[in-house]
Amino acid sequence: MPYSYSQIQTYRTCPKQYEFAYVKKIDRLISAGESFGTSMHSTLKKWGEAEMLSRPKDVSTREDQLKLFVAEEVTPETKELTETLLLKYWHESFVFEGYANRMDADFQRNRGAALLANFFQWWQEEPREVLIVEKGFKVTLPSSQHVLTGRFDRVERTAGGLRIIDFKTGAPRDQIAVDADVQLSLYAMAAQNMWDEPVVELSLLFFGDDGMIERKTTRNTSQLIDAEKSMKHILERIEAGDYTPDPAYEKCKRCPFKGVCPASAA
Ligand code: SF4
Repeated sequence: MPYSYSQIQTYRTCPKQYEFAYVKKIDRLISAGESFGTSMHSTLKKWGEAEMLSRPKDVSTREDQLKLFVAEEVTPETKELTETLLLKYWHESFVFEGYANRMDADFQRNRGAALLANFFQWWQEEPREVLIVEKGFKVTLPSSQHVLTGRFDRVERTAGGLRIIDFKTGAPRDQIAVDADVQLSLYAMAAQNMWDEPVVELSLLFFGDDGMIERKTTRNTSQLIDAEKSMKHILERIEAGDYTPDPAYEKCKRCPFKGVCPASAA
């Protein structure tokens, strides 16, 4: 059975939370933070797709050159990549669910528009060749044959190789945490399977209220082996049914199951 990376992440947060979410499958309401993240990812998916459509067509091969003479070939509509288009995508994609009331939702919708204005500045800093946006992948861990699924937010091709970008709407993490981030290691493994190109940069892009915060890192072979061991260890604990709670006030406060959890510290 494949596991999603979200399952691993939930287990790392708290094994009891994993049990509530994935074993007991207790229904829960979407939080405001999750709703905001969904709206942002959906906007950036549309934006990335518009970028890909707007890229000049590669007519370097004879096959591509011949296609230009086929009258029936339909060229998808390209769009001018402006901040106005980006904000249009945001307003179209905004999910109102999860907020306490309409005023709260409107506040976050306006906040999101301001964050995307920062994103647009960041995006304009250099020419970008987007390969994929919001694309799922599967990775088989070599040492245990566990299959893990995940999703790339965005992969760009640079002169030296691939740059994998993950969008984050939560609180920024420091460089030490990013260098040790297991999800980024999983992305590096997946990219190695999908493309015959080196991964030269893994980046977490945080949407901060004062501007974009980009934390860049890389992975070498020994770091990938360590990440694999760590994921394998978690999957073995999941399969052994170890759901020992790991309470702490800060995480229990945000836990969607705190109302039913006997171990909650909030
Ligand atoms: S309330 Fe705390 S201890 Fe209980 S599941 Fe949530 S994070 Fe874990």
